[in-house]
Amino acid sequence: MNNIKIGVFQLEPGWEIILQQEGIPFEQISLEKPISVEQYSTIILTEKLTKIQTQVVNEYLQSGGSALFLAKNLKHKVCPKRYLISNKNSLFASVGLVDVNGKIFISKRGELLDENLQIYSEKIGKGLRVILPFDVNRLILNIDSKRKKFYADRQELPSEIVANISKNKIRQIVRISLEFLHHCRDLPFVQKWYYPNGEKNIFIFRVDTDFCSAENAKKLHQICQENEIRGSWFVDTTSDDKLANVYAKMKNQEIGLHCFRHLVFKDYQQNFDDFKKGISQLKKAEIKSTGYVAPFGDWNENLGKVIADFGFQYSSEFTLNYDDFPFFPFVDGTFSKTLQIPIYPISMGRLHRSHFSETEKLTHYKQVILEKTITNEPIILYHHPEQLRFELWHEIFTFINENKIHKMTMNEFANWWKKRDNFEINCHFENNKIFFDKTECYVRISTKNGEKIISQKSINLDEINWQKKNIKSKDFSEMRKFSWREILYNYESKRARKYL
Ligand SMILES: [Zn+2]
Repeated sequence: MNNIKIGVFQLEPGWEIILQQEGIPFEQISLEKPISVEQYSTIILTEKLTKIQTQVVNEYLQSGGSALFLAKNLKHKVCPKRYLISNKNSLFASVGLVDVNGKIFISKRGELLDENLQIYSEKIGKGLRVILPFDVNRLILNIDSKRKKFYADRQELPSEIVANISKNKIRQIVRISLEFLHHCRDLPFVQKWYYPNGEKNIFIFRVDTDFCSAENAKKLHQICQENEIRGSWFVDTTSDDKLANVYAKMKNQEIGLHCFRHLVFKDYQQNFDDFKKGISQLKKAEIKSTGYVAPFGDWNENLGKVIADFGFQYSSEFTLNYDDFPFFPFVDGTFSKTLQIPIYPISMGRLHRSHFSETEKLTHYKQVILEKTITNEPIILYHHPEQLRFELWHEIFTFINENKIHKMTMNEFANWWKKRDNFEINCHFENNKIFFDKTECYVRISTKNGEKIISQKSINLDEINWQKKNIKSKDFSEMRKFSWREILYNYESKRARKYL
């Protein structure tokens, strides 16, 4: 009998974020006494080991265990890297472009699992270890941002100021490594599924109102109503009239706070004062809100503290993270109580600025939706009503409805994610069967044969009709080349933030 559970030696906040996002059963281990291969399906070692700890790990590996190591804790070479692109034929092919904007650590041991990503695997006795070149914790906790180009099937690419590090890709690399370490032991990999009722995906429509006219807000609301889209609107709050007569009257939509002044400040007090004004305006209009999204998607630690201090259930800022699953940011040495919900950060406005025709804009969003349908990432798109194009949104919503993608508001997704965080998976594997203690939620099971999303107390792996994903690799060669337009765009965004 084998537990399907990961042992983590020295759990760091960055690792905790990834393990919670992926919903992987784990517990902390001390390595002070021997561990058995039945106890842990694999182990993660985030720190350098002492002699005794090395001995404990070696015995576990020799007898058939598997482990995830970091090259930074072994003998290594340091190598500066802006970004890496995974090998098209490797286990990590679906990962694609990874921005690290710093250094990686190379420890050449065993065989290359991915030459471009510099990931190695090494047999040790009956067991196996995978060695990653990244300082995972440092990358996940990084809060820097910069302008990045995003993939599109054309020459001129859209860009936006977003998180410096591809945290979503680091998470994927960790998950794929952990799956591989299970599969090599002929064990299934098990994780909590991301969505309620085993839904394959979700769609959320976010609106940042940015002082739009009442007329344009109403027009966009009308398009939402016609397509049964319950949008999540984050409103500017200076106009009593618009709050009371437009936003407070919207039916079947969620209203949250965007700003009083359309700015994010570096210090606590100025952010606090702006929130206070915005919240009192919402109260006056009898609007209840649980969510906040910052102007420009900006985020800093002081803003993070203000968001949590005002008791917001969630917030969403793409300079902290984008294209990823929700998580609790690590602020000032502790986990925030406000959930962060990353979105797809490229707006219609950014597409327009990069000279996309109206048809190209629609095609682009359809491609993003299809790709996220395959990767099972949440599909969260946003719009500013002043940028009009209501007809295009009608087309996008029609596409969402045709593809029967499950629709939620941001608040509903935040509530679901918190509920999911509290579910516990306890399972073991015996005679090719997985047994679960309880079935609180759907789980994803993967083996060498494929994957399956299920919710039942026990399952025989022979009876599963496995599904395989086919994620096409893209050409990323132009993505990180410099283009002169970036200077112009950065100038424009500094001006908007009143830095100039
Ligand atoms: Zn805005």
